[in-house]
Amino acid sequence: MSDPVSKEVPTQRTERDPDLPPNFVEDMVREQVAQGRHGGRVVTRFPPEPNGYLHIGHAKSICLNFGLAQKFDGQCNLRFDDTNPETEDADYVHAIKKDIQWLGFDWGKNEFYASDYFQKLYELAVQMIKDGKAYVDSRTTEEIRDTRGDYYKPGVEAPDRGRSVEENLALFEQMKGGTLPDGSHVLRAKGDMASTDVKMRDPVMYRIRHAHHHRTGDTWCIYPLYDWAHGQSDYIEKVTHSICSLEFVNHRPLYEWFLDQIGAPPGDRPEQTEFAKLNFTYTVLSKRRLLELVKLKHVEGWDDPRMPTLSGLRRRGVTPEALRTLCDRVGVSTRDSVVDISLLEHAIREDLNATSPRVMAVLRPLKVTLQNFPENEVIEFDAPFDPEKPEGPSRKIPLSRVLYIEQEDFMETPPKKFFRLAPGQEVRLRYACIIKCIEVKKAADGSIEELVCEWDPASRGGTPADGRKIKGTLHWVSATHAVDATVRLYDRLFLAENPLKDKDTYLEHLNPNSVEVLSGCKLEPSLAEAKAGQRVQFERLGYFCEDASTTAAARVWNRTITLKDTWAKVAGKE
Ligand code: ATP
Ligand code: MG
Repeated sequence: MSDPVSKEVPTQRTERDPDLPPNFVEDMVREQVAQGRHGGRVVTRFPPEPNGYLHIGHAKSICLNFGLAQKFDGQCNLRFDDTNPETEDADYVHAIKKDIQWLGFDWGKNEFYASDYFQKLYELAVQMIKDGKAYVDSRTTEEIRDTRGDYYKPGVEAPDRGRSVEENLALFEQMKGGTLPDGSHVLRAKGDMASTDVKMRDPVMYRIRHAHHHRTGDTWCIYPLYDWAHGQSDYIEKVTHSICSLEFVNHRPLYEWFLDQIGAPPGDRPEQTEFAKLNFTYTVLSKRRLLELVKLKHVEGWDDPRMPTLSGLRRRGVTPEALRTLCDRVGVSTRDSVVDISLLEHAIREDLNATSPRVMAVLRPLKVTLQNFPENEVIEFDAPFDPEKPEGPSRKIPLSRVLYIEQEDFMETPPKKFFRLAPGQEVRLRYACIIKCIEVKKAADGSIEELVCEWDPASRGGTPADGRKIKGTLHWVSATHAVDATVRLYDRLFLAENPLKDKDTYLEHLNPNSVEVLSGCKLEPSLAEAKAGQRVQFERLGYFCEDASTTAAARVWNRTITLKDTWAKVAGKE
């Protein structure tokens, strides 16, 4: 695994669990609070753009921002950065809120939208024009880009840069008025076209877009650019700590400059701190790519259980606790790194191991008839939901003449040390009794259709009366009592460790076997009443969760994760 731990040495770590990797942002905030910076206030925000679903990378930012507010008795705003009407949608807003709540965080009354500030941002822009700090450029996007220069070459000042304040005000008013076409004009701040920082070269603040906005409808046809809206929104909300990912390091001078231009008092400004995004091996975490997977139907939607989205992970059966634990374990640093996906899988297993009832299900059934078991008789056995707590909650498991075991638990000509079922061999049916295989019935094509077995009535509960050793124990389900289900076995969506190494060909790395759908699975009867979202361990098989689409007539279960890390063994599976 690549080491997710950064090299920052925190100066003060008083309350943080010393076993956890460093979180330099938390350490910094703790120090600032102690020093009374920002008047001791801590106001953070989580600022998603509602143009897709949240993924596990966002979970890191959510845990960090909401976590700081919790730890320092502060406030974390949920702010939708909805300045781009063409790609944004109210459905995404709804999904994002649901996911944050599921993850266990609450923004209370502090739900905000950058679009709430459109009027305020507009007024600030007008003031900048009046102050001679912004002008309307009437060239095309291409012309503006071509004269911006690059790191080696300074930019060229726009011919319109000298427009009078009156002319700029009138033009900006017209841009807002709706009569001018998209792309005909933009509002730019008067930065410095010779600056070595290309972002400072007269950054664009507004563009014309005749697009319907999911909240402001058709009120506006000019929309602020992210760089202009983002910092000002933080300032308007009196955010003290603007925590964002590393790619914003080089936006920081511009954000500070904008605050200078609007006259934000130094003590009242948000302070930006950048941290490294969370990335995983075998995983793609870019909303653009995830949208592509959805649109091209490589998955069945944003909440497909193979997706690294919070809704996908939820549907798959992952718990919010596991994700929060994971976010603690990866720490917060300023060094970009890719976390081994097995760290996530470990956190999921660990949590499900501690919380999932153990039940039995047969996924690939093989019929077994107990020829010496009376017809129509049913014997019930007590089985604890947690085998390590035999006195804890339990259910009754019925045994009848016909039952199912797993096909792979029988071999006609077994190798040595095959302790499962074979002709003449004995095994234990978990919680029930000992059976012995006496006949193998085959179909015309030679495939095994049914096993005829004898049960040992003196072995009730699974312990033979004569104390003979029985090595194998199988899970099983009584045929007449079984609950039918479809079970989907999920595996990683990508086979390559770094699917985006070559962005043009990443789809070639999709795992063609990322899901296997098994119908005709047999679940133990205690699951007849289970509801969507129920999580269990199917003994010997893995952790499973009943799918959101399940109905009483058509039950669907998803495998969340296998019991062991099968990938570690299969190195070079790719
Ligand atoms: P993507 O890169 O997936 O398109 P984004 O950064 O464009 O995501 P936003 O909606 O802007 O998506 O993200 C909201 C917040 O989540 C931002 O503050 C961003 O820094 C943070 N964030 C996004 N991806 C990650 C990640 N992988 N790890 C940590 N934080 C992230
Ligand atoms: Mg973003």
